[in-house]
Amino acid sequence: MRLTLSQTFKSQMIAVFAATLAFLFWHFLLDYQRQKAESDAYLEAASYGNLLRAELDRELNALLFISNGFSSYIKVYRDDLQRDKMQAMLADLFAHTHHVRNLAVAVDYKLAYVYPEAGNEKILGVDYRQVPTQWPKVKVAIDSREGVLDGPLALMQGGTGMIYRFPIFIDGHYWGLMSTVIDTPHFLQDAFKDLQQPQFTFAIRTAEQKSVFYGDPALFDHKHIFLQRTKVPNGSWEWAIENKHIAALPGKRIGVVLSLLFSFLMGTMAYFFAQERYYLSEGALMDSLTGLPNRRLLDSRLNYAHSEARREGKKFGLMALDIDHFKLINDQHGHDIGDEVIKAVATKLKSCIRDSDTVSRLGGDEFVIVLKDQSSPEGLISIASMLIGMFNVPMQIHGQAVPVQLSIGLTMYDPSSEITLKQLLKQADLALYQAKQSGRNTYSLWQ
Ligand code: GH3
Ligand code: MG
Repeated sequence: MRLTLSQTFKSQMIAVFAATLAFLFWHFLLDYQRQKAESDAYLEAASYGNLLRAELDRELNALLFISNGFSSYIKVYRDDLQRDKMQAMLADLFAHTHHVRNLAVAVDYKLAYVYPEAGNEKILGVDYRQVPTQWPKVKVAIDSREGVLDGPLALMQGGTGMIYRFPIFIDGHYWGLMSTVIDTPHFLQDAFKDLQQPQFTFAIRTAEQKSVFYGDPALFDHKHIFLQRTKVPNGSWEWAIENKHIAALPGKRIGVVLSLLFSFLMGTMAYFFAQERYYLSEGALMDSLTGLPNRRLLDSRLNYAHSEARREGKKFGLMALDIDHFKLINDQHGHDIGDEVIKAVATKLKSCIRDSDTVSRLGGDEFVIVLKDQSSPEGLISIASMLIGMFNVPMQIHGQAVPVQLSIGLTMYDPSSEITLKQLLKQADLALYQAKQSGRNTYSLWQ
Protein backbone atom coordinates (compact mmCIF):
# COMPACT_ATOMS: atom_id res chain seq x y z
CA MET A 1 0.00 0.00 0.00
CA ARG A 2 2.80 2.38 1.03
CA LEU A 3 4.57 1.62 -2.24
CA THR A 4 1.56 2.46 -4.40
CA LEU A 5 1.13 5.80 -2.65
CA SER A 6 4.75 6.77 -3.12
CA GLN A 7 4.54 5.68 -6.76
CA THR A 8 1.49 7.88 -7.28
CA PHE A 9 3.39 10.73 -5.67
CA LYS A 10 6.38 10.10 -7.94
CA SER A 11 4.12 10.09 -11.01
CA GLN A 12 2.51 13.31 -9.82
CA MET A 13 5.93 14.93 -9.45
CA ILE A 14 6.88 13.80 -12.96
CA ALA A 15 3.57 15.20 -14.23
CA VAL A 16 4.16 18.57 -12.51
CA PHE A 17 7.69 18.71 -13.89
CA ALA A 18 6.55 17.84 -17.43
CA ALA A 19 3.67 20.32 -17.22
CA THR A 20 6.00 23.10 -16.01
CA LEU A 21 8.49 22.40 -18.79
CA ALA A 22 5.70 22.28 -21.38
CA PHE A 23 4.25 25.55 -20.05
CA LEU A 24 7.60 27.34 -20.15
CA PHE A 25 8.40 25.97 -23.59
CA TRP A 26 5.06 26.98 -25.08
CA HIS A 27 4.88 30.25 -23.26
CA PHE A 28 8.29 31.36 -24.53
CA LEU A 29 7.65 30.02 -28.01
CA LEU A 30 4.30 31.80 -28.33
CA ASP A 31 5.71 34.94 -26.73
CA TYR A 32 8.68 34.94 -29.08
CA GLN A 33 6.42 34.48 -32.10
CA ARG A 34 4.17 37.25 -30.90
CA GLN A 35 7.02 39.64 -30.33
CA LYS A 36 8.46 38.82 -33.74
CA ALA A 37 5.10 39.38 -35.42
CA GLU A 38 4.73 42.63 -33.49
CA SER A 39 8.13 43.96 -34.45
CA ASP A 40 7.54 42.95 -38.09
CA ALA A 41 4.26 44.83 -38.02
CA TYR A 42 5.96 47.91 -36.50
CA LEU A 43 8.60 47.81 -39.21
CA GLU A 44 5.86 47.68 -41.86
CA ALA A 45 4.13 50.65 -40.22
CA ALA A 46 7.44 52.55 -40.06
CA SER A 47 8.17 52.07 -43.74
CA TYR A 48 4.58 53.03 -44.60
CA GLY A 49 5.08 56.14 -42.44
CA ASN A 50 8.16 57.02 -44.46
CA LEU A 51 6.18 56.84 -47.69
CA LEU A 52 3.51 59.16 -46.28
CA ARG A 53 6.10 61.59 -44.99
CA ALA A 54 7.90 61.74 -48.36
CA GLU A 55 4.64 62.37 -50.22
CA LEU A 56 3.62 65.13 -47.81
CA ASP A 57 7.04 66.80 -48.12
CA ARG A 58 6.66 66.82 -51.88
CA GLU A 59 3.22 68.47 -51.73
CA LEU A 60 4.31 71.07 -49.16
CA ASN A 61 7.41 71.92 -51.17
CA ALA A 62 5.21 72.73 -54.15
CA LEU A 63 3.51 75.40 -52.02
CA LEU A 64 6.87 76.69 -50.91
CA PHE A 65 7.97 77.22 -54.49
CA ILE A 66 4.93 79.35 -55.18
CA SER A 67 5.79 81.66 -52.29
CA ASN A 68 9.44 81.78 -53.34
CA GLY A 69 8.47 82.60 -56.92
CA PHE A 70 6.18 85.37 -55.79
CA SER A 71 8.85 86.75 -53.49
CA SER A 72 11.27 86.98 -56.44
CA TYR A 73 8.66 88.80 -58.52
CA ILE A 74 8.22 91.41 -55.77
CA LYS A 75 11.95 91.91 -55.50
CA VAL A 76 12.33 92.44 -59.24
CA TYR A 77 9.30 94.75 -59.72
CA ARG A 78 9.40 96.51 -56.36
CA ASP A 79 9.36 99.95 -57.99
CA ASP A 80 6.60 99.16 -60.43
CA LEU A 81 3.98 97.21 -58.48
CA GLN A 82 0.65 97.72 -60.24
CA ARG A 83 -2.50 96.35 -58.79
CA ASP A 84 -3.74 94.58 -61.96
CA LYS A 85 -0.35 92.98 -62.53
CA MET A 86 -0.25 91.76 -58.95
CA GLN A 87 -3.73 90.26 -59.36
CA ALA A 88 -2.71 88.63 -62.65
CA MET A 89 0.40 87.21 -61.04
CA LEU A 90 -1.62 85.79 -58.13
CA ALA A 91 -4.19 84.37 -60.55
CA ASP A 92 -1.47 82.58 -62.49
CA LEU A 93 0.12 81.13 -59.39
CA PHE A 94 -3.30 80.10 -58.09
CA ALA A 95 -3.95 78.22 -61.34
CA HIS A 96 -0.88 76.08 -60.67
CA THR A 97 -1.87 75.00 -57.19
CA HIS A 98 -4.07 72.24 -55.84
CA HIS A 99 -6.40 72.69 -52.93
CA VAL A 100 -5.46 76.26 -52.18
CA ARG A 101 -8.43 78.35 -51.09
CA ASN A 102 -6.77 81.68 -51.67
CA LEU A 103 -3.51 83.51 -51.95
CA ALA A 104 -3.14 86.77 -50.09
CA VAL A 105 -0.44 89.40 -49.86
CA ALA A 106 0.06 91.83 -47.00
CA VAL A 107 2.12 94.92 -47.61
CA ASP A 108 3.73 95.78 -44.35
CA TYR A 109 1.14 94.29 -41.96
CA LYS A 110 -2.03 95.08 -43.90
CA LEU A 111 -3.67 92.62 -46.31
CA ALA A 112 -3.60 94.40 -49.65
CA TYR A 113 -4.22 91.71 -52.29
CA VAL A 114 -6.22 88.51 -52.37
CA TYR A 115 -7.00 85.98 -55.07
CA PRO A 116 -9.70 85.03 -55.74
CA GLU A 117 -11.30 88.20 -54.48
CA ALA A 118 -14.84 86.88 -54.60
CA GLY A 119 -15.77 85.63 -51.13
CA ASN A 120 -12.56 86.95 -49.58
CA GLU A 121 -13.26 90.68 -49.72
CA LYS A 122 -13.64 90.74 -45.97
CA ILE A 123 -9.97 90.32 -45.33
CA LEU A 124 -8.76 93.18 -47.51
CA GLY A 125 -7.42 96.00 -45.40
CA VAL A 126 -7.11 93.88 -42.26
CA ASP A 127 -4.03 94.63 -40.18
CA TYR A 128 -2.45 91.43 -38.85
CA ARG A 129 -1.47 93.13 -35.65
CA GLN A 130 -5.18 93.54 -34.86
CA VAL A 131 -5.95 89.82 -35.23
CA PRO A 132 -4.90 88.14 -31.99
CA THR A 133 -5.50 84.62 -33.36
CA GLN A 134 -3.06 85.14 -36.21
CA TRP A 135 -0.57 87.79 -35.18
CA PRO A 136 1.70 85.56 -33.03
CA LYS A 137 2.48 83.21 -35.93
CA VAL A 138 2.82 86.11 -38.37
CA LYS A 139 5.33 87.61 -35.99
CA VAL A 140 7.21 84.31 -35.77
CA ALA A 141 7.48 84.24 -39.58
CA ILE A 142 8.76 87.81 -39.72
CA ASP A 143 11.17 87.40 -36.80
CA SER A 144 12.56 84.09 -38.05
CA ARG A 145 12.51 85.26 -41.71
CA GLU A 146 11.19 81.79 -42.56
CA GLY A 147 7.96 80.29 -43.78
CA VAL A 148 5.53 79.19 -41.03
CA LEU A 149 2.71 76.69 -41.35
CA ASP A 150 -0.12 77.61 -39.02
CA GLY A 151 -3.38 75.87 -38.17
CA PRO A 152 -5.73 74.34 -38.76
CA LEU A 153 -7.46 77.49 -37.57
CA ALA A 154 -10.68 79.46 -38.01
CA LEU A 155 -10.26 81.72 -41.03
CA MET A 156 -11.30 85.38 -41.04
CA GLN A 157 -13.37 84.82 -44.16
CA GLY A 158 -15.07 81.76 -42.60
CA GLY A 159 -14.29 78.05 -42.46
CA THR A 160 -11.08 76.41 -41.31
CA GLY A 161 -7.79 75.84 -43.04
CA MET A 162 -4.04 75.88 -42.72
CA ILE A 163 -2.07 78.94 -43.63
CA TYR A 164 1.45 78.94 -44.99
CA ARG A 165 2.98 82.36 -44.35
CA PHE A 166 6.08 83.43 -46.16
CA PRO A 167 7.75 86.74 -45.18
CA ILE A 168 9.27 88.80 -48.00
CA PHE A 169 12.40 90.81 -47.33
CA ILE A 170 13.92 93.34 -49.76
CA ASP A 171 17.48 94.41 -49.18
CA GLY A 172 17.31 92.97 -45.71
CA HIS A 173 14.14 94.93 -44.79
CA TYR A 174 10.72 93.46 -44.18
CA TRP A 175 8.41 94.32 -47.08
CA GLY A 176 5.34 92.14 -46.49
CA LEU A 177 3.92 88.65 -46.26
CA MET A 178 2.40 86.13 -48.60
CA SER A 179 -0.26 83.79 -47.21
CA THR A 180 -1.38 80.59 -48.83
CA VAL A 181 -4.58 79.26 -47.32
CA ILE A 182 -4.79 75.52 -47.76
CA ASP A 183 -7.95 73.48 -47.90
CA THR A 184 -6.43 70.99 -45.46
CA PRO A 185 -8.74 67.95 -45.78
CA HIS A 186 -8.64 67.98 -49.59
CA PHE A 187 -4.95 68.80 -49.69
CA LEU A 188 -4.12 65.80 -47.48
CA GLN A 189 -6.60 63.46 -49.13
CA ASP A 190 -5.09 64.25 -52.47
CA ALA A 191 -1.53 63.89 -51.18
CA PHE A 192 -2.24 60.42 -49.80
CA LYS A 193 -4.68 59.18 -52.42
CA ASP A 194 -2.25 56.80 -54.07
CA LEU A 195 -0.88 55.58 -50.76
CA GLN A 196 -4.04 54.28 -49.14
CA GLN A 197 -3.61 50.67 -48.03
CA PRO A 198 -6.38 48.74 -46.25
CA GLN A 199 -3.79 47.28 -43.85
CA PHE A 200 -3.04 50.70 -42.35
CA THR A 201 -5.01 53.53 -40.81
CA PHE A 202 -3.42 56.75 -39.67
CA ALA A 203 -4.13 60.10 -38.12
CA ILE A 204 -2.11 63.32 -37.92
CA ARG A 205 -2.09 66.07 -35.30
CA THR A 206 -0.02 69.14 -34.58
CA ALA A 207 2.75 68.44 -32.08
CA GLU A 208 2.13 71.71 -30.24
CA GLN A 209 -1.63 71.80 -29.71
CA LYS A 210 -2.28 68.10 -30.30
CA SER A 211 -5.19 69.05 -32.52
CA VAL A 212 -5.97 66.18 -34.86
CA PHE A 213 -6.65 67.39 -38.41
CA TYR A 214 -6.52 64.14 -40.35
CA GLY A 215 -7.97 60.72 -39.53
CA ASP A 216 -9.67 59.42 -36.42
CA PRO A 217 -8.45 61.22 -33.24
CA ALA A 218 -9.12 58.04 -31.18
CA LEU A 219 -6.29 56.31 -33.03
CA PHE A 220 -3.77 58.12 -30.81
CA ASP A 221 -5.17 56.24 -27.81
CA HIS A 222 -4.88 52.81 -29.42
CA LYS A 223 -2.44 50.38 -27.85
CA HIS A 224 -0.29 49.17 -30.69
CA ILE A 225 0.34 52.22 -32.84
CA PHE A 226 3.50 53.39 -34.50
CA LEU A 227 4.17 57.05 -33.66
CA GLN A 228 6.30 59.28 -35.85
CA ARG A 229 7.09 62.98 -35.91
CA THR A 230 7.72 65.02 -39.04
CA LYS A 231 8.97 68.57 -39.45
CA VAL A 232 6.81 71.13 -41.22
CA PRO A 233 7.80 74.75 -41.71
CA ASN A 234 8.40 76.07 -38.20
CA GLY A 235 6.72 73.22 -36.35
CA SER A 236 6.10 69.53 -36.38
CA TRP A 237 3.32 67.01 -36.80
CA GLU A 238 2.71 63.73 -35.01
CA TRP A 239 1.42 60.69 -36.80
CA ALA A 240 -0.28 57.61 -35.35
CA ILE A 241 -0.08 54.69 -37.74
CA GLU A 242 -1.93 51.49 -36.97
CA ASN A 243 -1.07 48.24 -38.68
CA LYS A 244 -4.18 46.06 -38.56
CA HIS A 245 -1.97 42.97 -38.59
CA ILE A 246 -1.05 43.73 -34.96
CA ALA A 247 -4.65 44.13 -33.91
CA ALA A 248 -5.37 40.73 -35.52
CA LEU A 249 -2.68 38.96 -33.45
CA PRO A 250 -4.05 36.74 -30.65
CA GLY A 251 -3.83 38.48 -27.25
CA LYS A 252 -1.22 37.61 -24.61
CA ARG A 253 -3.90 36.02 -22.46
CA ILE A 254 -4.82 33.59 -25.21
CA GLY A 255 -1.15 32.61 -25.33
CA VAL A 256 -1.15 31.91 -21.59
CA VAL A 257 -4.39 29.91 -21.83
CA LEU A 258 -2.98 27.87 -24.74
CA SER A 259 0.25 27.23 -22.82
CA LEU A 260 -1.74 26.16 -19.75
CA LEU A 261 -3.89 23.81 -21.80
CA PHE A 262 -0.86 22.31 -23.45
CA SER A 263 0.99 21.93 -20.15
CA PHE A 264 -2.08 20.28 -18.60
CA LEU A 265 -2.15 17.84 -21.51
CA MET A 266 1.57 17.13 -21.19
CA GLY A 267 1.27 16.72 -17.41
CA THR A 268 -1.60 14.26 -17.76
CA MET A 269 0.26 12.31 -20.42
CA ALA A 270 3.43 12.24 -18.30
CA TYR A 271 1.40 11.04 -15.31
CA PHE A 272 -0.19 8.16 -17.19
CA PHE A 273 3.07 7.32 -18.88
CA ALA A 274 4.87 7.15 -15.50
CA GLN A 275 2.07 5.07 -13.97
CA GLU A 276 2.01 2.72 -16.94
CA ARG A 277 5.77 2.34 -16.84
CA TYR A 278 5.52 1.48 -13.17
CA TYR A 279 2.79 -1.08 -13.72
CA LEU A 280 4.84 -2.73 -16.41
CA SER A 281 7.84 -2.90 -14.09
CA GLU A 282 8.46 -5.74 -11.64
CA GLY A 283 8.16 -3.36 -8.69
CA ALA A 284 4.46 -3.03 -9.34
CA LEU A 285 3.93 -6.74 -8.83
CA MET A 286 6.08 -7.37 -5.77
CA ASP A 287 5.58 -6.45 -2.14
CA SER A 288 8.48 -4.19 -1.24
CA LEU A 289 8.89 -5.43 2.35
CA THR A 290 8.92 -9.19 1.78
CA GLY A 291 9.64 -9.53 -1.95
CA LEU A 292 6.54 -11.75 -2.21
CA PRO A 293 3.97 -11.32 -4.99
CA ASN A 294 1.51 -8.56 -4.08
CA ARG A 295 -2.23 -8.43 -4.60
CA ARG A 296 -1.88 -7.63 -8.32
CA LEU A 297 0.34 -10.58 -9.03
CA LEU A 298 -1.83 -12.78 -6.82
CA ASP A 299 -4.84 -11.85 -8.97
CA SER A 300 -2.97 -12.85 -12.06
CA ARG A 301 -1.73 -16.12 -10.54
CA LEU A 302 -5.23 -16.90 -9.28
CA ASN A 303 -6.67 -16.25 -12.71
CA TYR A 304 -4.11 -18.55 -14.19
CA ALA A 305 -4.77 -21.29 -11.59
CA HIS A 306 -8.50 -20.84 -12.15
CA SER A 307 -8.35 -21.26 -15.92
CA GLU A 308 -5.90 -24.14 -15.62
CA ALA A 309 -8.17 -25.88 -13.11
CA ARG A 310 -11.18 -25.43 -15.40
CA ARG A 311 -9.30 -26.61 -18.43
CA GLU A 312 -7.84 -29.70 -16.77
CA GLY A 313 -10.67 -30.40 -14.37
CA LYS A 314 -8.39 -30.11 -11.36
CA LYS A 315 -8.99 -28.54 -7.98
CA PHE A 316 -6.80 -26.03 -6.16
CA GLY A 317 -6.67 -24.75 -2.60
CA LEU A 318 -6.68 -21.22 -1.26
CA MET A 319 -5.44 -20.17 2.18
CA ALA A 320 -5.94 -16.80 3.90
CA LEU A 321 -3.42 -16.31 6.73
CA ASP A 322 -3.24 -13.57 9.33
CA ILE A 323 -0.79 -13.16 12.22
CA ASP A 324 -2.48 -13.32 15.61
CA HIS A 325 -2.36 -10.20 17.74
CA PHE A 326 0.20 -8.62 15.53
CA LYS A 327 -0.62 -5.20 16.95
CA LEU A 328 0.70 -6.47 20.28
CA ILE A 329 3.99 -7.50 18.63
CA ASN A 330 4.29 -3.99 17.20
CA ASP A 331 3.44 -2.48 20.53
CA GLN A 332 5.82 -4.61 22.54
CA HIS A 333 8.81 -4.74 20.20
CA GLY A 334 8.40 -1.72 17.99
CA HIS A 335 7.39 -1.28 14.39
CA ASP A 336 10.80 -2.22 13.00
CA ILE A 337 10.75 -5.59 14.73
CA GLY A 338 7.17 -5.92 13.49
CA ASP A 339 8.49 -5.51 9.96
CA GLU A 340 11.17 -8.11 10.60
CA VAL A 341 8.47 -10.49 11.87
CA ILE A 342 6.48 -10.02 8.66
CA LYS A 343 9.61 -10.74 6.62
CA ALA A 344 10.48 -13.80 8.67
CA VAL A 345 6.93 -15.14 8.38
CA ALA A 346 7.10 -14.62 4.62
CA THR A 347 10.38 -16.54 4.37
CA LYS A 348 9.06 -19.33 6.51
CA LEU A 349 5.85 -19.71 4.53
CA LYS A 350 7.74 -19.67 1.27
CA SER A 351 10.15 -22.36 2.50
CA CYS A 352 7.29 -24.77 3.24
CA ILE A 353 5.47 -24.73 -0.04
CA ARG A 354 6.34 -25.86 -3.56
CA ASP A 355 7.78 -23.45 -6.11
CA SER A 356 4.72 -23.93 -8.31
CA ASP A 357 2.52 -22.58 -5.51
CA THR A 358 2.15 -18.90 -4.67
CA VAL A 359 2.64 -17.18 -1.33
CA SER A 360 1.59 -13.54 -1.51
CA ARG A 361 1.29 -10.69 0.93
CA LEU A 362 -1.89 -8.66 0.67
CA GLY A 363 -0.63 -5.96 3.05
CA GLY A 364 -0.38 -5.59 6.85
CA ASP A 365 -0.08 -9.04 8.45
CA GLU A 366 -2.25 -10.79 5.83
CA PHE A 367 -1.01 -13.45 3.43
CA VAL A 368 -2.70 -15.62 0.80
CA ILE A 369 -1.40 -18.95 -0.50
CA VAL A 370 -2.55 -20.65 -3.70
CA LEU A 371 -1.92 -24.40 -3.70
CA LYS A 372 -2.31 -26.01 -7.08
CA ASP A 373 -3.43 -29.59 -7.86
CA GLN A 374 -5.16 -30.35 -4.58
CA SER A 375 -7.48 -33.31 -4.69
CA SER A 376 -9.18 -33.06 -1.28
CA PRO A 377 -9.70 -30.75 1.71
CA GLU A 378 -7.72 -33.21 3.79
CA GLY A 379 -4.55 -32.35 1.86
CA LEU A 380 -5.17 -28.65 2.59
CA ILE A 381 -5.80 -29.34 6.22
CA SER A 382 -2.54 -31.22 6.61
CA ILE A 383 -0.58 -28.36 5.05
CA ALA A 384 -2.38 -25.86 7.33
CA SER A 385 -1.61 -27.86 10.46
CA MET A 386 2.00 -28.27 9.30
CA LEU A 387 2.26 -24.48 8.94
CA ILE A 388 0.71 -23.84 12.34
CA GLY A 389 3.04 -26.38 13.87
CA MET A 390 6.05 -24.57 12.41
CA PHE A 391 5.16 -21.48 14.44
CA ASN A 392 5.05 -23.34 17.75
CA VAL A 393 8.47 -22.09 18.73
CA PRO A 394 9.14 -18.34 19.09
CA MET A 395 10.96 -16.70 16.22
CA GLN A 396 14.40 -15.22 16.70
CA ILE A 397 14.37 -11.65 15.52
CA HIS A 398 17.57 -9.66 16.07
CA GLY A 399 18.42 -11.85 19.05
CA GLN A 400 14.96 -11.44 20.58
CA ALA A 401 12.56 -14.36 21.00
CA VAL A 402 9.24 -13.25 19.55
CA PRO A 403 6.31 -15.68 19.78
CA VAL A 404 4.39 -15.55 16.49
CA GLN A 405 1.24 -17.48 15.72
CA LEU A 406 -1.11 -17.59 12.76
CA SER A 407 -4.73 -18.25 12.00
CA ILE A 408 -5.63 -19.79 8.64
CA GLY A 409 -8.82 -19.91 6.62
CA LEU A 410 -9.03 -22.68 3.98
CA THR A 411 -11.17 -23.19 0.93
CA MET A 412 -11.04 -25.34 -2.14
CA TYR A 413 -11.85 -24.51 -5.73
CA ASP A 414 -13.86 -27.16 -7.50
CA PRO A 415 -14.09 -26.64 -11.31
CA SER A 416 -17.53 -28.25 -11.35
CA SER A 417 -18.90 -25.31 -9.32
CA GLU A 418 -19.74 -21.93 -10.87
CA ILE A 419 -18.02 -19.98 -8.12
CA THR A 420 -16.07 -16.83 -9.01
CA LEU A 421 -12.59 -15.99 -7.76
CA LYS A 422 -14.01 -13.11 -5.78
CA GLN A 423 -16.39 -15.47 -4.01
CA LEU A 424 -13.55 -17.94 -3.43
CA LEU A 425 -11.43 -15.24 -1.76
CA LYS A 426 -14.43 -14.26 0.32
CA GLN A 427 -14.83 -17.89 1.44
CA ALA A 428 -11.18 -18.04 2.54
CA ASP A 429 -11.66 -14.79 4.44
CA LEU A 430 -14.77 -16.08 6.21
CA ALA A 431 -12.93 -19.29 7.15
CA LEU A 432 -10.09 -17.17 8.55
CA TYR A 433 -12.61 -15.21 10.57
CA GLN A 434 -13.95 -18.48 11.96
CA ALA A 435 -10.42 -19.54 12.91
CA LYS A 436 -9.90 -16.23 14.71
CA GLN A 437 -13.26 -16.70 16.43
CA SER A 438 -12.33 -20.19 17.60
CA GLY A 439 -9.38 -18.86 19.55
CA ARG A 440 -6.64 -18.18 16.93
CA ASN A 441 -3.50 -20.26 16.30
CA THR A 442 -5.68 -22.64 14.32
CA TYR A 443 -7.26 -23.18 10.91
CA SER A 444 -10.78 -23.45 9.70
CA LEU A 445 -12.15 -24.93 6.48
CA TRP A 446 -14.94 -23.15 4.65
CA GLN A 447 -17.91 -25.42 3.94
P1 GH3 B 1 -5.87 -10.26 14.96
O1 GH3 B 1 -5.40 -11.44 15.79
O2 GH3 B 1 -7.33 -10.07 15.08
O3 GH3 B 1 -5.40 -10.33 13.57
O4 GH3 B 1 -5.22 -9.01 15.66
P2 GH3 B 1 -4.11 -8.08 15.05
O5 GH3 B 1 -3.54 -7.28 16.15
O6 GH3 B 1 -3.14 -8.82 14.23
O7 GH3 B 1 -5.05 -7.17 14.16
P3 GH3 B 1 -4.97 -6.93 12.63
O8 GH3 B 1 -4.55 -8.12 11.91
O9 GH3 B 1 -6.29 -6.32 12.22
O10 GH3 B 1 -3.90 -5.78 12.55
C1 GH3 B 1 -2.74 -5.85 11.83
C2 GH3 B 1 -1.85 -4.72 12.31
O11 GH3 B 1 -0.62 -4.75 11.58
C3 GH3 B 1 -2.38 -3.35 12.11
C4 GH3 B 1 -1.18 -2.46 11.82
O12 GH3 B 1 -0.85 -1.71 12.96
C5 GH3 B 1 -0.06 -3.44 11.59
N1 GH3 B 1 0.62 -3.27 10.30
C6 GH3 B 1 0.06 -3.14 9.10
N2 GH3 B 1 1.05 -3.07 8.16
C7 GH3 B 1 2.26 -3.16 8.80
C8 GH3 B 1 3.61 -3.16 8.39
O13 GH3 B 1 3.96 -3.04 7.21
N3 GH3 B 1 4.58 -3.26 9.35
C9 GH3 B 1 4.25 -3.39 10.70
N4 GH3 B 1 5.25 -3.49 11.57
N5 GH3 B 1 2.98 -3.35 11.08
C10 GH3 B 1 1.99 -3.28 10.18
MG1 MG C 1 -3.57 -10.04 12.59
